[in-house]
Amino acid sequence: SNTLMAGKRGLIMGLANDKSIAWGIAKALHGAGAELAFSYQGDALKKRVEPLAAQLDSDLVLPCDVGSEESIDELFNTLKEKWDGLDFIVHAIGFSDKSELRGRYVDTTRGNFITTMDISVYSFTAVMRRAEKMMSPGSAALTLTYYGAERIMPHYNVMGVAKAALEASVRYLAEDLGKDGIRVNAISAGPIKTLAASGIGDFRYIMKWNEYNSPLRRNVTIEDVGGSALYLLSDLGGGVTGETHHVDAGYHVVGMKAVDAPDI
Ligand code: NAD
Repeated sequence: SNTLMAGKRGLIMGLANDKSIAWGIAKALHGAGAELAFSYQGDALKKRVEPLAAQLDSDLVLPCDVGSEESIDELFNTLKEKWDGLDFIVHAIGFSDKSELRGRYVDTTRGNFITTMDISVYSFTAVMRRAEKMMSPGSAALTLTYYGAERIMPHYNVMGVAKAALEASVRYLAEDLGKDGIRVNAISAGPIKTLAASGIGDFRYIMKWNEYNSPLRRNVTIEDVGGSALYLLSDLGGGVTGETHHVDAGYHVVGMKAVDAPDI
């Protein structure tokens, strides 16, 4: 542990369980002295999120469905009553109908295209419009993306299109909020076995492929993502904004991996 985040307060959105990327990030921030609040989607998750928050000394656990403007307003109204400012925010939220996270992209329905873009892309912009009002210079925001935004990955389909839009919105938000000294970045995480990922077709195969073909020859953990998130959200990342930072064991730089067997 360290004191990088001592005196800083932040909101973590998208914690579902102890496999969540949000959990890896929350642990790193707490370990660095941050004070945390959490938002969760739906009553079913409340009883999962509350004990996890308690482990990180937080009892500020609030409902928010990012598909609803009223729900986002309610979250920030409550937060404003409790805290006079916000130093950082983590958006670790995505959604698509899992029946469309397999098969062909071309078969994506209009309805699920709109829902996927709404929950996975627009929600970050909607949240930042509220968050900026509580933020002062030196504050930072972070969202989560995936390599399927840049290159074809099997089954990622409409989610890849949504992540491309999310990465573009990170750049536009960086410009808008940069004038007020607020930084906005994304982490492009390698595949990690979480609740959301379990909806993606052949996910075990994708994990194996990443393990065999990345320069580090392993998959990343939620703790790896947490470490990089800490850098981007702390003053160490003070000169970084609009960036999509890959935490993927180097997978995104590989054209063809070196053959490990010496006789081939
Ligand atoms: P997760 O299932 O633990 O987290 C996803 C979260 O999104 C859940 O907490 C869920 O409640 C929340 N959510 C969905 N719809 C919502 C709504 N309408 N309102 C509020 N919250 C809502 O899975 P995760 O893998 O930790 O996902 C976090 C982020 O990381 C997502 O954006 C995901 O796309 C991204 N990501 C995941 C991987 C991976 O391999 N797991 C890789 C790169 C990026």
